[in-house]
Amino acid sequence: MRIVLLGAPGAGKGTQCKRIVDRYGLLHLSSGDILRQQRAEGTELGGKAQKYMDSGALVPDQIIVEMMADAIKNAPDAGFILDGFPRTINQAAELDKSLDCSGQKIDAVLNLEIDDEVVVRRMTGRRSCPQCGAVYHVENLKPKVEGICDNDGTTLVQRSDDSAEVVANRLKTYHLQTEPVVDYYKKNSSTVYDIDANKDVDGVSASVLEKLEALAKA
Ligand code: ADP
Ligand code: AMP
Repeated sequence: MRIVLLGAPGAGKGTQCKRIVDRYGLLHLSSGDILRQQRAEGTELGGKAQKYMDSGALVPDQIIVEMMADAIKNAPDAGFILDGFPRTINQAAELDKSLDCSGQKIDAVLNLEIDDEVVVRRMTGRRSCPQCGAVYHVENLKPKVEGICDNDGTTLVQRSDDSAEVVANRLKTYHLQTEPVVDYYKKNSSTVYDIDANKDVDGVSASVLEKLEALAKA
């Protein structure tokens, strides 16, 4: 299966991907995680992305498209799930072109629909583990010991772009540049499933897995 998971920043894409990957053995490719990794390693790519990420803008398409095409090459036969990519119509068209070259296509698009107020609460309360990448929430998904990762005991951190000011910019960017990607896929005949992402994690997972089960059987 080759799947795209769309949705506003903070909609719960990473959280749902973890569950999907555990079940179907897909490669989880989060463009945001890859960029943060590049920044942590101090690479040229990470350096180029920094100012865009810090302000809540999108990193230029050309950089992202090349980065993701490279990552997709390493996907297992089971397939992959893209999280946070594509984020512009141009990125979606470039992805289609590059998959087409190897006789592949996106099988389904899961579109997490969520209200802006809920997104703001989710992003400002998000905490993550700098060691293993696990994601928690100060109210919704608490670790067993406050501020400490359940997996490895590392102190949890808040992403610098989850501050209220940058979150507002990221939401604006989403509505302007990324929401139109849903229509792109609806027009270009990939199967698009709209999912209510305002529900709790288990509620969203149940909807997501129901769609994917149907797809796996088809
Ligand atoms: P994204 O990958 O779309 O940016 P995340 O998966 O990191 O979003 O989720 C954003 C925040 O919201 C995290 O703190 C996560 O723990 C929390 N979260 C995710 N899904 C839900 C949900 N369905 N209900 C409540 N909180 C959630
Ligand atoms: P995320 O972790 O998905 O919220 O992404 C964090 C930041 O990385 C975004 O605010 C963008 O600056 C950048 N980014 C991630 N994915 C993309 C993408 N597909 N296109 C452009 N910029 C991206």
